[in-house]
Amino acid sequence: MTIKESLDEVGQRIRRAETDAGRPPGSVHLLAVSKTQPAEVVRAAAQWGQRAFGENYLQEAEDKIAVLSDLKLEWHFIGPIQSNKTATIARLFHWVHSVDRLKIAQRLNDQRLPARGPLQVCIQVNISGEGSKSGVGLDELPALAAKVAGLPNLCLRGLMAIPAPEKDPERQRRTFARLREALEMLNRQGLALDTLSMGMSDDLESAVAEGATWVRIGTALFGARKSR
Ligand SMILES: *Cc1c(COP(=O)(O)O)cnc(C)c1O
Repeated sequence: MTIKESLDEVGQRIRRAETDAGRPPGSVHLLAVSKTQPAEVVRAAAQWGQRAFGENYLQEAEDKIAVLSDLKLEWHFIGPIQSNKTATIARLFHWVHSVDRLKIAQRLNDQRLPARGPLQVCIQVNISGEGSKSGVGLDELPALAAKVAGLPNLCLRGLMAIPAPEKDPERQRRTFARLREALEMLNRQGLALDTLSMGMSDDLESAVAEGATWVRIGTALFGARKSR
């Protein structure tokens, strides 16, 4: 399949899922997860109109962002964050989906140049218990969200999750529903969050049914990844 064909196919899956959920067309954004893919593949996807790309590994992303700086792309960091990486992330990225502790949020805030405008962030939540190791627990989420929301160079947009793999669509939905409910709870407590980053190649329909606003898609766009 060409990159155009897979972009069309994923786009159709998203539109169909929006319709099935009674949601307006265009309410779900496609984040093309380009980790392990070379810059030329990103360039090809950009030629067909894809603008937002997700990267997990900073060194690899730095190289790609430099090579593609002639294009107007929106870069999203979605991988685990070590504290010694925050300065580069704050400099190069528009969004960070994987903030999971205050120290990281504070460093991103301190290192973001105000002139670049606030860094758009999501807090990563561990919604499937022992299944995923990263992400803040639901019990600690309200306190962390309140603090992150107060950081001037960050704009807290919402929540992100990477649930443990699950084949049954009903169970997928129940897990995604927990993230939606967490977002609704934070909004009842006075935050104004509009972003749910959830759903990947195998479960995007379930995520859209439960309110995803960003689906993060790698394999369905670019094929299986070679192991790093
Ligand atoms: C790799 C990755 C994805 C994409 O997963 P696919 O199953 O290939 O679509 C999405 N989100 C995160 C955080 C990832 O690391």
